[in-house]
Amino acid sequence: MKRVLSIKLKLTLWFTGFMTVTAAVCLGLILMISGKVERDEAFQILSFTVRGNIPQVSLVEGRLHLSSEFQFYTNDVYLLIYNKKKALLSGQAPPSFPVETELENGVTKFVSGGKDEFYILDFWIPCGWEDGVWLRGVLHSPDSQRTLGNIFTMFTIILPFIILSAGAGGYLIAKRALDPISRITDAAGSISEGKDLTRRIGLPPGRDEVSRLANAFDHMFERLEQSFEAEKQFTSDASHELRTPTTVILAQCSYAKKHGNSLEEYQEAIDVIDRQARRMSQLIERLLDMTRLDLGTRKLHLERLDLSEMVRILWEEQNTGARGISISLEVEDGIWVQGDPFLISRVIWNLLDNARKYGKEGGHIVLRLFSGSNENGSKIAILQVEDDGIGMETEELDKIWQRFYQVGASRQSGSGLGLGLSMVKQIVHLHGGEVTVTSILGQGSCFTVMLPKIP
Ligand code: ADP
Repeated sequence: MKRVLSIKLKLTLWFTGFMTVTAAVCLGLILMISGKVERDEAFQILSFTVRGNIPQVSLVEGRLHLSSEFQFYTNDVYLLIYNKKKALLSGQAPPSFPVETELENGVTKFVSGGKDEFYILDFWIPCGWEDGVWLRGVLHSPDSQRTLGNIFTMFTIILPFIILSAGAGGYLIAKRALDPISRITDAAGSISEGKDLTRRIGLPPGRDEVSRLANAFDHMFERLEQSFEAEKQFTSDASHELRTPTTVILAQCSYAKKHGNSLEEYQEAIDVIDRQARRMSQLIERLLDMTRLDLGTRKLHLERLDLSEMVRILWEEQNTGARGISISLEVEDGIWVQGDPFLISRVIWNLLDNARKYGKEGGHIVLRLFSGSNENGSKIAILQVEDDGIGMETEELDKIWQRFYQVGASRQSGSGLGLGLSMVKQIVHLHGGEVTVTSILGQGSCFTVMLPKIP
């Protein structure tokens, strides 16, 4: 089976390898450059010394004549003088210098003699037509080996240290960078196994990529937990709500079967069953609507919507005078929003329906639409449904938006499902708006929907 190297190990190996290669290349370059610099310098000294001494050497009547300024050893250069037959006339060669080295006029050479190395430069100094002498400069370069040796020693001490530091540094950086990923993997693993939905990675907020990834995961886990919780809550609420009408239907059926003697009694039982079945069907329909919106399977069909006109039409439809309640309309013309006509009409319809259900007999509802602006200064459409009905206690106002929540009295009356307002809120939020309520117990309520307005 192929062995898989961890990213940590791969990064460390890469760092170490890279540093080794870099160090080796540096060493090579240093050796190359230092060798060249040393050679150039040696050539310069040699050339300067030998050329400078040429005028001091001559043959007078066949005999070698050196001026008083001539020095056999100067600037670390040994000067040797040979006759035209290349026999040494004067001067002392450094020990181990290969004296047999061929003389060549004006040529600088590098020769080695035993363990020492030398730079040499020869010049033929003619005296008369046929005669002349050779002047040879010899520069000992014992330092070159030492310098190279020093550089090598330095590197053999420093190189392992560099490689070790690179390896350790690389490993630590890789570990620090990748540790959160292991934590993400652990957290995701335990969440996907369903062990612990409250588990978080919990990295302190940072600006680097891994911190942002970990925070994004935490946010996702949070949302997952919320939706699991919501799903659990929803399932238990839905089954509880469906159980009530089912129990009533079953009870009515068994009562009618056992005790139903007359047509009227059967009729009565069927009426009850019919009411409860309708309630169940409504409930299922609402639940499906909300779930579709939640899951995004019911997409918003957004279009430019004349809200003023829609409010007017719904007012005409709803102002039926049921329960003796009259609805008055205060609408500003030409208010447009970007919205899904069906869903927005559901919002208005629900609020009007509630205002009528919880309004007082023979009371009054006001349906308003006007434009305004929010705290950011953006233009908004404001829709209000105000009634003079039973109102609510202040502590109820936060709860009425929850699914299946009904204020005590309404629950007992069995008039609603407790889903209308949560759907209103859901739809308004999907349209980027807000919905609020103010209410005074016994005096009435006012629901306000704010939606972004378009020109
Ligand atoms: P329901 O089907 O019970 O009307 P909603 O979600 O529409 O469900 O409303 C939730 C609860 O909020 C209602 O049961 C009722 O107690 C309260 N409520 C809603 N609208 C009004 C209103 N206009 N006046 C008083 N109470 C209201």
